[in-house]
Amino acid sequence: MLIGAHTSISGSRVSSDEAAPPYNNISNAIFRQKQFGGNCGQIFSHSPQVWQDPNIDDDEAEKFRERSDQQGVGPWVIHSSYLVNLCTPKDDLREKSIDSMQKEVDAAEKLGIEYVNVHLGAHTGAGVEGGLDNAASALDELDIPESVTVLIESDAGSGTKLGGQFEHLAGVLDRSEQDLEICLDTAHMFAAGYDISTAEGVEDTVEEFDDVVGLDNLACIHLNDSKHECGTNKDEHAHVGEGLIGEEGMKAVINHEGLRGCPYVLETPTEDGKSFAWNVERVRELRE
Ligand SMILES: [Zn+2]
Repeated sequence: MLIGAHTSISGSRVSSDEAAPPYNNISNAIFRQKQFGGNCGQIFSHSPQVWQDPNIDDDEAEKFRERSDQQGVGPWVIHSSYLVNLCTPKDDLREKSIDSMQKEVDAAEKLGIEYVNVHLGAHTGAGVEGGLDNAASALDELDIPESVTVLIESDAGSGTKLGGQFEHLAGVLDRSEQDLEICLDTAHMFAAGYDISTAEGVEDTVEEFDDVVGLDNLACIHLNDSKHECGTNKDEHAHVGEGLIGEEGMKAVINHEGLRGCPYVLETPTEDGKSFAWNVERVRELRE
């Protein structure tokens, strides 16, 4: 199965093992992934809290492509900046968002990365339809390299953020001229009101997704349990099987016929002692 984690690219060297090659910068993500027991993964190309250029030099990009290949790690996803808001009615934020996304898809091409993941953002008064129009037209302004696919991620749906309902995801796919695909985040789906805490709930939810969006448009799954109840719109991730989705629901997601071919990317907490390695192992245990 394809399972990995959202991995940091920071630091100049991550191994105390002198025999390890001097992985640096973005290639650190590959080494870390191997340490977690992962075989695919996700990165930020730069700090996600600021507007910043990914600034990837040619040598670094070549190293990343070569080592991903050698180590058999992939596909990779670049998660775009949290500041990006494709739904916004504000011109300046829209321009910055389009510019940032263009840099992400260009960085992905350079690194040989297949996917760039983005949240639709908040419509902040433009309304659902207006927000979806804004998002689609912003995406249509991108010059997306042929080797790269933009993934629209499902959202927890707080405030005026779009992407919580499958209809929003379908709405953007319908409106945009780009070849977009979808990334479903299990914690976000649950927060947005899709009760995937039981095998039956997962079955119903996947069926609904297939009806509204189409399973053939699903490219990736962010595999996170949730610290908050279903329908609360609160986005806080928990370790696999330890949150309110729980073991039954997570197990059903990990094994569902329509989902199990997708890369599963963990965005589980990193500050409370349980590592990505623990979660990768848990997922493998739950896989049948
Ligand atoms: Zn996510």
